[in-house]
Amino acid sequence: MADLQIHQFPCLSDNFGVLIHDPAQNLTASIDAPEAKAVAAALKEKGWTLTHILTTHHHADHTGGNLELKSATRCIIIGPRGEASKIPGIDKQVGEGDTFSFGSHQVQVLDTPGHTAGHITYVIPSAKVAFAGDTLFAIGCGRVIEGDMQMMWQSLKKLMALPKDTTVYCGHEYTQSNAKFAVTIEPENDALQKRAKDVDQLRAAGKPTLPTTIGIELETNPFLRPHVPAIQKRLGMEGKPDWQVFGEIRERKNRS
Ligand code: ZN
Ligand code: FE
Repeated sequence: MADLQIHQFPCLSDNFGVLIHDPAQNLTASIDAPEAKAVAAALKEKGWTLTHILTTHHHADHTGGNLELKSATRCIIIGPRGEASKIPGIDKQVGEGDTFSFGSHQVQVLDTPGHTAGHITYVIPSAKVAFAGDTLFAIGCGRVIEGDMQMMWQSLKKLMALPKDTTVYCGHEYTQSNAKFAVTIEPENDALQKRAKDVDQLRAAGKPTLPTTIGIELETNPFLRPHVPAIQKRLGMEGKPDWQVFGEIRERKNRS
């Protein structure tokens, strides 16, 4: 099986663009399309021709380039069934349990609502990679805008159940501010403290902190750790259900 090639690049103020390329069949997908110009420049840099856009959710900073890229390349736009009417140019609607092929790879779709009501995550098990949009971030998670805390927690749990060596690409470079907040929730987590320092160094050097892995997030992301007794104690929520502790951490981040 030909390897999947992946190219990540920053765009807009703090978004990531990601291109995935299957060399055997010469297919290239853009994971979301924050802005047409930046995606087109990345395609040119790699010498790849756009054939697909895989949309995670309807927000403008993820779909703003859809129509311009589609008219320039005639690419196929795949996106979430749950909010299809809000995805510009959508050709194919997908949701939980759906699979489709991208060259020699199978793409699996997970419903991961909460940030938006129809948000989806794309998983490619053969390449051990997931594209989580604004559901999961490095040391953080998306704001719960259209769903509720219980819904978002269920979505994060689906991602937590992926193999630990799954590489995760996310929609934004929010890691440094996430880390500053995270150490107030779990200061005794040595892996988190070390990662926070690494993140500061990467950002000081102008480097991205993404992608991440499920394993790293399980160890250092407080939003995935509501079961940890020290966190529950700090929040005064000993023995409370995971989704409620998660919800409290999310509320505190909103206020931070
Ligand atoms: Zn969003
Ligand atoms: Fe976003």
